[in-house]
Amino acid sequence: MARITGIKVIRTRATASWVIVKVLTDQPGLDGIGSAHDYNATGAVVAALEEWMAPRLIGRDPAMIEDIWQSTFTSGYWRTGPTHNAALAGIDIALWDIKGKEAGMPVYQLLGGPVRAAVPCYAHAVGDTLEALVDDVHRYLGDGWQYVRCQVGAYGGGGFVPATRPHAPDPALTPWGRDWPTWPSGRAFDDDTYIENTVAMFARLRDEVGYGPKLTHDVHEHLRPTSAVTLAKRLEPFRLFFLEDVLPPEQIAWYRQIRQQCATPQAIGELFTNVQEWLPLISERLIDFIRCRVSKVGGITPARKIAHVAEAFGVQTAWQEGGNTDPVNLTAAMHIDMTSHAFGIQEENWFSEAELEAFPGHPILAGGYLYPNARPGLGIDIDEAKAAALVDRERASRPRYLVEDRRPDGSVIRP
Ligand SMILES: [Mg+2]
Repeated sequence: MARITGIKVIRTRATASWVIVKVLTDQPGLDGIGSAHDYNATGAVVAALEEWMAPRLIGRDPAMIEDIWQSTFTSGYWRTGPTHNAALAGIDIALWDIKGKEAGMPVYQLLGGPVRAAVPCYAHAVGDTLEALVDDVHRYLGDGWQYVRCQVGAYGGGGFVPATRPHAPDPALTPWGRDWPTWPSGRAFDDDTYIENTVAMFARLRDEVGYGPKLTHDVHEHLRPTSAVTLAKRLEPFRLFFLEDVLPPEQIAWYRQIRQQCATPQAIGELFTNVQEWLPLISERLIDFIRCRVSKVGGITPARKIAHVAEAFGVQTAWQEGGNTDPVNLTAAMHIDMTSHAFGIQEENWFSEAELEAFPGHPILAGGYLYPNARPGLGIDIDEAKAAALVDRERASRPRYLVEDRRPDGSVIRP
């Protein structure tokens, strides 16, 4: 029987925001890697791993994945949350990697075996203008992609008005003058502008590409609840594959109103960290796609349970990826995707050549499909020298924050 002898935490990427956990054992050559990524609170995840979770795992049997997950989950009394779950996911994914290596099988074989030949992914098409977006969508379709997320103006785009008069107050008349921390980008978010631009975007896109390609859109939670209901209704004729994050996690009860009023498929979940967030949405069939990030719910162990619950209620999975996650998180999601009848779609991720070289065995993304290999475990490893060389000390030392969007009156909007 193998024993855990140590846990090594490796920070990589230029920003050092990828946290790769290596679980070491007393068996020669037997170790595993997992993803404990957190783009903003990176150091907090590292501390949770090194100071809290790692010491109590020394000497344990790495084969006891479920027991280690359950006991680590409650080992600090308080549980869930983005930091805790990410650290736990790093360990959990690494233990699945070890179990696969011990069994001589890929993780997708341990999870029940493949039910598909490869994993369909959706691409991210963007443009600063509608014309530029149309060009980007055509480019992806030409490269063989069948599922495309469509955004004008990138993050939260499509709903901005100038943060100046007549939309915004005159700073000279406020007690704060120009010290009010508003609109660093010079733009302010307006619900109705967003709704009109987004409806026009899909009218144009369907004229261009017809109804064959599967199109999605991510609202990034910017809308007020009734605006969200309105947008979902007005997009119904354009038959989206899904509408993502039309509401923030704090307002998920409003999905009942959306469900009663239209059939636009709904996707949410990337900010969820607690079973009580996704369970009502799935069990009441209020959404069509649950799209948690595997490392933010605690790893493969809880994510496959979400997939099982989703399957029972006819909801599909669309595990979140996006720009700041790492190749190990994507690989963990891919193994579940390969085996799950609840699978709907996988979000793609893009990594540079140098980043991929630091992760030998990484899945191949080509023409809209993600392809696993047949190696035991996750099938992906980390080249620690190359991973160390990716880090840019200056960039790594900078704090990282999400873009701060505000309404015309200066109040901040979510997320
Ligand atoms: Mg999103």
